[in-house]
Amino acid sequence: MPSQRDDCLFCDIVRQGTYVGKTKGFVAIDDINPQAEVHILIIPERHVDTFRDIAEFSPKETKRMLDFVAETARNAGLTDYRVVANVGASAGQTIFHLHWHILGGGPAHAHLPAAMATAVTEL
Ligand code: AMP
Ligand code: ZN
Repeated sequence: MPSQRDDCLFCDIVRQGTYVGKTKGFVAIDDINPQAEVHILIIPERHVDTFRDIAEFSPKETKRMLDFVAETARNAGLTDYRVVANVGASAGQTIFHLHWHILGGGPAHAHLPAAMATAVTEL
């Protein structure tokens, strides 16, 4: 198993192997508190604190990670969706193991944050 932390919830989830999708080095899990009809998290198996440390991944791993984001969204039946990484506590990051949120599904714009949804409907 790649480098892991004992005190990290997402390292624990990776160790338990309860995911909805997997590729080499990365897993997909359903968010426990979904903010959209489909809310999936893409998590590297290796512990990396935050997107700020993205340079810890090789170009090959980075491409595999982003391909896996797109593949997971496609497999979930999504064509339109948001991909979000909260970077740092004041930007809303609560779990300090890098992850990408995939948010989509439901009625048009239902997966957008309130301010953005208002702006879109006003267009
Ligand atoms: P963030 O706030 O960007 O760090 O995102 C953390 C996400 O992890 C939140 O959307 C939580 O709902 C989600 N989460 C927390 N605990 C779990 C868990 N045990 N299984 C799945 N998702 C979780
Ligand atoms: Zn971790």
